[in-house]
Amino acid sequence: MRGRLIFKTGVILFALLILTLGVVAFFFRKSTIESSKETALTVAHLVRATLTSYMVMGTMDRRDIFLEEVKRIHGLEYVRVVRGEAVIRQYGEGKEYERVLKRIEEEVLRTGRTKDRVLESREKVIYEIVVPYRATSAGSVNCLQCHNVREGEVLGAISIAVDLTSKRREALTTLGIYGGMAGVLFLTLFLIILRHFEPYRRLFTEIGRVLSRYKDGNFKERVKTDLKDEAGELAREVNRVGETLDRTLSNVREKVSMLIGYSIMETENALKDTEKIVEELAKISHFKRAIEQDLRKDEIYDRIETVLSDYMSLDKFSIYEVDERKNAMKVVSVSGEKLWCSEVILENADECRAKRTGEDVDSAEFPCICPRFAFNELCSTQGIQYYCIPVNIGGKVGNVVQIVYEKEMDMFIRMIIPYIKGYLQEASPVLESKSLMELLKQQSYIDQLTGLYNRRFLEEVADKISAQIKRRGTILGILMIDIDFFKEVNDRYGHDVGDRVLKEIAQVVKNSVREADYVIRFGGEEILVLLMDVKENMSEKVAEKIRRNVESRTIEFSGGVIRKTVSIGVSEFPKDCEGKIWRCIKFADVALYRAKEEGRNRVVRFTPDMWTEEEY
Ligand code: GH3
Ligand code: MG
Ligand code: MG
Repeated sequence: MRGRLIFKTGVILFALLILTLGVVAFFFRKSTIESSKETALTVAHLVRATLTSYMVMGTMDRRDIFLEEVKRIHGLEYVRVVRGEAVIRQYGEGKEYERVLKRIEEEVLRTGRTKDRVLESREKVIYEIVVPYRATSAGSVNCLQCHNVREGEVLGAISIAVDLTSKRREALTTLGIYGGMAGVLFLTLFLIILRHFEPYRRLFTEIGRVLSRYKDGNFKERVKTDLKDEAGELAREVNRVGETLDRTLSNVREKVSMLIGYSIMETENALKDTEKIVEELAKISHFKRAIEQDLRKDEIYDRIETVLSDYMSLDKFSIYEVDERKNAMKVVSVSGEKLWCSEVILENADECRAKRTGEDVDSAEFPCICPRFAFNELCSTQGIQYYCIPVNIGGKVGNVVQIVYEKEMDMFIRMIIPYIKGYLQEASPVLESKSLMELLKQQSYIDQLTGLYNRRFLEEVADKISAQIKRRGTILGILMIDIDFFKEVNDRYGHDVGDRVLKEIAQVVKNSVREADYVIRFGGEEILVLLMDVKENMSEKVAEKIRRNVESRTIEFSGGVIRKTVSIGVSEFPKDCEGKIWRCIKFADVALYRAKEEGRNRVVRFTPDMWTEEEY
């Protein structure tokens, strides 16, 4: 910009200088020629008057001396008189030197009009003028008296030349001096202009610099200038724009930070930072909306998994769920199919440091801090780090999110931890409400007296269990158990004792089967047991074991001791009932009926002969 300014100003000033010099030269020349013309016309007039008077007085022989004198006095190149045709006709041709006519002289004699010209060459400048004489009878001397001509006819002409060579030299010298002076003047002007423009040029450079920072999202830069005029106002306006943008954007970031519960690491680029944090807000609110519509907790865990693996690009992490009642932990998501913690935490949740303390566990801060991390040797030798975040759910640690990473990723992990916490914070209330709902649902499936599953539970899971067994190609053992002569207990000892006996026997049944089997209070004092994945004909043996366990059980109460027996009907799904689970349950009941008939306290395996199609 500076270069262009210098160039343009220079060119303009130079052109101005040349133009001025040209104009001066032009007028100088014009005035020189004009004054030469004036002199020449005066001389011509003098010559004419003098020669006329010589003629009248008859002293024409003095003509040459006179002309020589005139030439000398006026510093002329030459002055001569040429004769027109009429004079030559009357008086003959003049002197030798007068006979050879110049073109300009011939022309003037022919046309009768004054003519002049400037002959310029490198060496000389000559101004020539030829003034015609016309015959007239009107003046003080009547030409027609002596000349044999008509009024107005050209008698001759006076041809004068002035040497302007020295004038030209003078002019050039003057112009040179003038040009030099003007040059100095213009140069000074040039420097003054440059000096004047310099602060503006600097201001524009400065504004350019600041705007380019703004373009990069840095609104902290300000234009510095001392200018107070409109240009200074422009600079201040730019600064005001920067301040407003800076303030507005940082307000937006602050508010969004408050909304999402964490702030992002700020860079120099406020635009990018704002865009990023707003994007974060959009993602989080999208996440929140999605998990609120999720039905079960595992769907929420899947989404957290997606956040960790897709948004955060993590490849090693686990999500644990704490079972408060059992004080145990469950792995609900693990990336890389590897359990990073010792299995003891699954049995005893307090073994997990993050769960126990409720604080982040950061192995980068305290190397290999948690003894329950299963790969502490990798942590000390191969730079494997872990970061465990406890998730507060309803005032307790409900989940633990564990991130395992290589040491080189430390910076990155530290950067994304707040983001992860933001997501977990959003998930926490939703997880809490889902847990509560699950608990409620669980409770509505539990029989309050015995603690066994109730009939509703059976209705809910029967189809699922049937599908599972079919898929696995195994057998489901179905035992229908009824307490023998239970009514007696009620009748003899009262309902409360009856309740206790029922409870105790339910417990005996439950303790006689495996954890994976389902024990359901089917009716009043009837218990249905679903034995998962049994071997063929194993169900009868389990039933027998139950029968024996009940038989040998003594139930003490204030009024004495009670012993009870049970009758059990057995069927096996799917083969007894062509894969129809409710039918198999019915057949177990049919077998139970047979057991009662045959004398009670026994196990009867259902056989097809006990049931004819029409009865069902
Ligand atoms: P059996 O089965 O051997 O034929 O004789 P039973 O006396 O057990 O006869 P049944 O199965 O028909 O009678 C069931 C009785 O169980 C009826 C009811 O009074 C009693 N009962 C059912 N539910 C409860 C309960 O929740 N508490 C108590 N105390 N008694 C119950
Ligand atoms: Mg009974
Ligand atoms: Mg009964």
